[in-house]
Amino acid sequence: MGASVLVVLFALSLASYASPASAEQVVADGGQSFEVSVSDRHPAQGDPVLIEVRIAPPPDNVTLAWKGRVFPLKVAAPGTYLGLVGIDLMDPPGKVPLSVAAVRGGSAARFDLELTVRERAFPVQELALPETMARFDDATLERIRGEAARIEALFSAVSPPAWDLPFLRPVEDFRPAGFGARRVINGEPRSPHAGADIHLPAGTPVTASAAGTVVFAGEQFFGGRSVILDHGGGVFTVYYHLQEYAVRDGQRLEKGERIGAVGSSGRATGPHLHFGVRAAGGRIDPSRLFERKFNRQE
Ligand SMILES: [Zn+2]
Repeated sequence: MGASVLVVLFALSLASYASPASAEQVVADGGQSFEVSVSDRHPAQGDPVLIEVRIAPPPDNVTLAWKGRVFPLKVAAPGTYLGLVGIDLMDPPGKVPLSVAAVRGGSAARFDLELTVRERAFPVQELALPETMARFDDATLERIRGEAARIEALFSAVSPPAWDLPFLRPVEDFRPAGFGARRVINGEPRSPHAGADIHLPAGTPVTASAAGTVVFAGEQFFGGRSVILDHGGGVFTVYYHLQEYAVRDGQRLEKGERIGAVGSSGRATGPHLHFGVRAAGGRIDPSRLFERKFNRQE
């Protein structure tokens, strides 16, 4: 019986996978047209999803509601708005609601839709480390927890969108590896790898993937010399294990501006850039952001 159920589920998932990106239109009273397109209605764990909204006549304000939070959309052109949400690598497969709200004058219109998250198979990395590298004393554990809490608090800020398409690769020779790897150290499961590692010689220049503000430039136990950029609308990029960084907290950066250089600071076994992307809270696979559907000029 179990096998036949599996066959049916597999057929269903194939059918949904084949469905095209959707555009839906609602013409509200008073001649207002409200159209929402989604880059992928059936994203996998770790996928970014681009939401494009066209409203005529243009409203005063457009926002996106996702997982209990509200994000401002970016104005791409008069009446055209963009938002980016991320399916976190640990999000459970299944349906998740998303809605777009527009306010004009005293009236509000809302468009509700649903994404279906697909499971993605992530590699499992079994590592055997000497106990001195795998265990930390109380003071170090306290530092690690404090840093994690501070960084997590940064990601909860929502500022006006400053990003635009396309996002730039942070290094010229971009060969990302290891996103989502479930790490098991000395038989104990640890946090999954929430970014991509790009192995390059120390000193290789690292540049900003999009315009934004430096919200962290400092040292961390795991990340070493670290820079975090807030691109607005809930989109952040992180750059860890730097040899040096050339930016300071609060600094505004343009897309492509130099941040620092590849290194092996913090807990790193050799020089590499750890590059991470958060979109509306979701830790996404950075390489997916450079796929063709996101690689267009606004
Ligand atoms: Zn890494």
